Amino acid sequence: MKIGVLALQGAFELHKPHIEALGAQYVPVVTSKNLNDLDGIILPGGESGTMLKLINIVGIHQQLANFLQTKPVWGICAGAILLAKSVKNPTQESFSILDFEITRNAYGRQLDSFQEMINDYQVSYIRAPQISKVGKNIKILKEKEGCATWLETPNVMITTFHPETNLSTPSPWHRRFAEYCIDLVS
Ligand code: GLN
Repeated sequence: MKIGVLALQGAFELHKPHIEALGAQYVPVVTSKNLNDLDGIILPGGESGTMLKLINIVGIHQQLANFLQTKPVWGICAGAILLAKSVKNPTQESFSILDFEITRNAYGRQLDSFQEMINDYQVSYIRAPQISKVGKNIKILKEKEGCATWLETPNVMITTFHPETNLSTPSPWHRRFAEYCIDLVS
């Protein structure tokens, strides 16, 4: 199994040990060629505006959009922002892959970042966004302060928190995403 991680900016490298602990291959995605033969892709945390600019600069916007419409994808924090239907604070373009609205930097500044235990596993919220509205037929698996932080559909996983910062590999979310990639999620 080959799992790609968009590797233009942000927290991509931290996914490598989690993916390899599953016996899968970690593929850093920088060019459209890297998208060939992937079973799924992770859009990592980072800075979503910068990531969007870099996606356009390296010229993979169209190929990435096609990939996201047909293959399993997991968006984390900035990656979740790139997949939302609508982005606030400020308004920003997105790939509009799933029907939810997201508000950037909703918990405050970088210094207001925090950690939380979910199912006995520590995850990090790093200058995280808040999911402010969720469309129909989308499962909400976790909420915080009345806002969803973990969403799932048969093709898409969204978390506003980062599990990859935890050094205990593989994280339950990487394991779950691998199930997406081998088509076990329905
Ligand atoms: N604050 C970032 C943004 O709005 C997201 C932070 C993250 O990915 N940890 O793009």
